[in-house]
Amino acid sequence: MSRMSLMGWALLLALAGAGVSEAKPVKYAGLHPRTGQPDGGLCHIQAVHSHAAVPAHAQVLYRQHGDAYVFIGDPVPFGYEGPRHPYYGHHPVVINIIINVEVEEDDVEYCYHDGPHYHAYEPPPGHDFDEQEDVHYYADEFPEAYRRDSPKLVQVNVLYRPWRYTLPVVVKPPPSSYRGPVVKVNVNVNVPAVGVDVRVQPVPARHEVIIVEPRERPRHRKHKKFKDRD
Ligand SMILES: [Zn+2]
Ligand SMILES: [Zn+2]
Repeated sequence: MSRMSLMGWALLLALAGAGVSEAKPVKYAGLHPRTGQPDGGLCHIQAVHSHAAVPAHAQVLYRQHGDAYVFIGDPVPFGYEGPRHPYYGHHPVVINIIINVEVEEDDVEYCYHDGPHYHAYEPPPGHDFDEQEDVHYYADEFPEAYRRDSPKLVQVNVLYRPWRYTLPVVVKPPPSSYRGPVVKVNVNVNVPAVGVDVRVQPVPARHEVIIVEPRERPRHRKHKKFKDRD
């Protein structure tokens, strides 16, 4: 046996050993980041599929539907080039709709991205959203489950803070129907002097977060439908 093939065998045995100790494959469904970092890109497999490891930042970037991890965050920092749906602030996300699975009762979770952000999915039907400047604002009450998980899940904003990526442009303050946190974008900081692209806003770290007290919901308010785009 040559010296090369001995080395080859040693490598194979090492790999086989690693395989034995590995945990069973982890299920994913729908588009998701390949790693926890933007340069890792996206995995575009829509159907339920497996990877060797639990996703990075699983707690804040994913929700579990059955035993599958479903990515619910903003895909843009990871190089997403598909249709973008602009949102502002916190809102419900219906997991079974994102991954196109028929269920008896909707699997409703909440997105805790502060301020303007994008998703690959549209606002879920049956939930009250208002549209302003082409941006979707959740226009209903947040349930107790949203408040209970908030301290842990708002950490998603800490994760995205250092990443530079395009955010939806929001000029007006949120409509009065929106009851989530309001993030004031300070546009006077960190803007390069030459070749300013107004669509690339300053790093979210420089946003100022103002928590707005929930407003009393007016009684007998008419249920608003989606406003049609022109
Ligand atoms: Zn995948
Ligand atoms: Zn969102």
